[in-house]
Amino acid sequence: MLLREKKKQNLGVKKIRVLKGDQVEVLAGKDKGKKGKIEKVLPGKGVVVIKGINMYKRHVKPQGQAKQGGIVTASRPIALCKVAVICSKCGKKTRVGYEVAKGEKVRICRKCKGQI
Ligand SMILES: [Zn+2]
Repeated sequence: MLLREKKKQNLGVKKIRVLKGDQVEVLAGKDKGKKGKIEKVLPGKGVVVIKGINMYKRHVKPQGQAKQGGIVTASRPIALCKVAVICSKCGKKTRVGYEVAKGEKVRICRKCKGQI
C-alpha cells in the first residue's frame, strides 16, 4: 500500500461532491454495480463508507465480560473515484454540478439539471 506516501503529497483538500445519505453506485471493485447509501464521508482521505458495500469480516476476540468475541461484519471505506452519485430525480448515474439559487449553493444533476 502506498497510502502513506500519497498522504504526504496531498496538496490540499479535495472538493467533495458527495454527502452523507447520498445514493451512489459502485463503479469498480468487487461490489461493482451495487448501489447503496453513503454512511460516512472522510474528506481528508477521499473515501466514503457505503452501507453494505465493501463488507469485510473481522474476527474479534472477547474483551472482558461486556464484549463478546465473534465475527463482526463491517463496511470498509471505498475511494470516491469508484463511486457515482445517483440522481434522486432521474435515477441515473450522474456527475454533480453546482448552481447558485437564491443566494444558496445547491447541488444539481448534470443530466436532468434537477436538484439533488
Ligand atoms: Zn438527474
